[in-house]
Parts: sequence; structure tokens; C-alpha cells
Amino acid sequence: AGKAEGKGQYRFFDHAQSNILKTRTQLRQRLLEAIDKRQFVLHYQPRVDTRTGELLSMEALLRWEHPQLGMIRPDEFIPLAESSGLIVPIGAIVIDAACAQLAAWRAQGAVPVPVSINVSPKQFLRGGVQRELADALARYHVPAGLLEVEITESAMMGDQAEILAELAAIRALGVKLHVDDFGTGYSSLSQLQRMKMDVLKVDRSFTAELGRSKEGTVFFQAIVSMAHALGMEVVAEGVENEAQLTILRALNCNEVQGYLVARPLPAASIAPLLAQRYLFDDALAA
Ligand code: C2E
Ligand code: MG
Ligand code: MG
Ligand code: MG
Repeated sequence: AGKAEGKGQYRFFDHAQSNILKTRTQLRQRLLEAIDKRQFVLHYQPRVDTRTGELLSMEALLRWEHPQLGMIRPDEFIPLAESSGLIVPIGAIVIDAACAQLAAWRAQGAVPVPVSINVSPKQFLRGGVQRELADALARYHVPAGLLEVEITESAMMGDQAEILAELAAIRALGVKLHVDDFGTGYSSLSQLQRMKMDVLKVDRSFTAELGRSKEGTVFFQAIVSMAHALGMEVVAEGVENEAQLTILRALNCNEVQGYLVARPLPAASIAPLLAQRYLFDDALAA
């Protein structure tokens, strides 16, 4: 297993075990409080070069640190945040926090790798994301190349010219664009033709099929070939075992992200990894 494994094993709040956040009204009220009191924190999950294990980038993943309930996963509150519009102020906090953290690493003398943030379709529909990114980069004196944006396929769906224009403007800043959870949306291939994206993140349900079925590997291979032909890099999400890593190497998948390498970790645990740089242990080294 990877060197970084074992750290960051947080106990998460389990929705099913509590009735505190059961109703939409209660959850919304508490989310408003969370925004007000800044109860959000970002964890970071490394993405490494499939062959060498070199740390190349990481994904910022949002956690809600509730004073009584503990750490709450995004799946517990992002859906309501999206439907209630609260994702807009929460998304602004995420952009600000990621840039602040990049600046902090730089101030500590660490050489940070790019951080990708997840941006919800609702934020794009409302507009202004490009401006928020540009403002935060300027506020913290962070080069645009250190920030990346992940959007799911569904965010690019349909004929939403405004969204495509906003994406193009973000890319013009020098911020790379990632297609997140690729393969789970409806519009996969047609949307890729329309909008130039830099990185394709293959959903972990496809990674899980590697080695399990011949079709799974064939399908993954086809995605990699297509992405490379379109000039995109490919990241496999949810890589959990060495067998998957071995197949991904054979398929020329560029980067891997998953528990095999590291779990999402708090910023303090990332600093040593920035110095270490190569995250595979001897067993995983090619
Ligand atoms: P995502 O963007 O696809 O993020 C990857 C999810 O897979 C993360 O879950 C991560 O912890 C998990 N993961 C990573 N490696 C493995 C693995 O090897 N095995 C398994 N089973 N899971 C793995 P997490 O942190 O719970 O986030 C869930 C989703 O919440 C994210 O999926 C993303 O869609 C959303 N999210 C997270 N942070 C934000 C944010 O700041 N803004 C928005 N709008 N959405 C966010
Ligand atoms: Mg993501
Ligand atoms: Mg994903
Ligand atoms: Mg996902």
C-alpha cells in the first residue's frame, strides 16, 4: 500500500444514525449557520503519475466540521446545498479556501502542486465563477496554473451557451478544466467535442470493473485512447488495489487517485507529501 495510507482515517458523521439533520428545513438552517461560522474545511487527495508515483496534483474535497456532529461528508449536504442555492456561497468559500491554502504552502516554502476544486452546475448556471476564481487568485497572489476546476459531464449538458462561454473564460485564465465522473453522465461524447477540456477523470465505477470483467478493461482502454486522441490526460478515480494499478499502467492511463495511494488528507498532512514528492512505496514502484 501507499506510504500515505493510514493517515486521515476520520470518523464521519452517519446520517442514518441521527435525526438531527433529517428534515430539509433543519439541514438548511444548519447549513446557513455553517456558512456564517465557516464550519467548512478542505481535505486534499493526491493524484500521482501512474508509473512513478510522483505527486502531480490533488483534489480539494469539502468537509463540514460540525461542532457537535463531527465531520460530515459532502454527499450528506451538497444535494440540498444545490437545490437551495446555498452552493453558491459554499462554492465561494471553497474557491477562497483553496487559494488561501496554496498561498500558505508557498509561504511555508513548500512547492505546491495544482489543486482542483469541484464546481457545481448550479454555480455555472448562476454565472460569475470565472470572476470569483480570478479574484481569489489575485487576492492570494497564486498563479492560475495552480488551480484547476472539475465539472461533471451533466454540468456541460444541453445547449447552455453561457456555461460553455464561462468555461472558455476560465480556461483563458490558465485554469485547467477536468471532466469529473466521466462515464456516468448522459452526454459524454458529444460534449467533449464541443468544449476543450484538459483532463478526463474516469468514474470509479469503471475502475472497479478493471480485472473483474474483460469488458471493463476494454471499455477503459477505449476511453483512454479517445481522451489521448483529443489531447486530454486521463485520471483513474477510486484506485484501491495493485491489480487495478497494473492494468492502468498497461492502458497508459496518466494518473491515478484513490485509497491505494492516499485518502483525502487535511492540509497539514499534505505538507510532508509535497516534500516527499514520490508517493509509491517499494511494492508499487514499477
Ligand atoms: P468526486 O468529485 O468524484 O470526488 C471523489 C470522491 O471519491 C471523494 O468522495 C473521495 O473521497 C472518494 N474516493 C477517493 N478515492 C476513493 C477510493 O479509492 N475508493 C472510494 N470508494 N472512494 C474514493 P467525497 O470526498 O465524499 O466527495 C463526494 C463528492 O462530493 C465528490 O465526488 C464531489 O462530487 C462532491 N464534492 C466534494 N467537494 C465538493 C465541493 O467543494 N464542491 C462541490 N460542488 N462538490 C463537492
Ligand atoms: Mg471531483
Ligand atoms: Mg469524481
Ligand atoms: Mg463523484
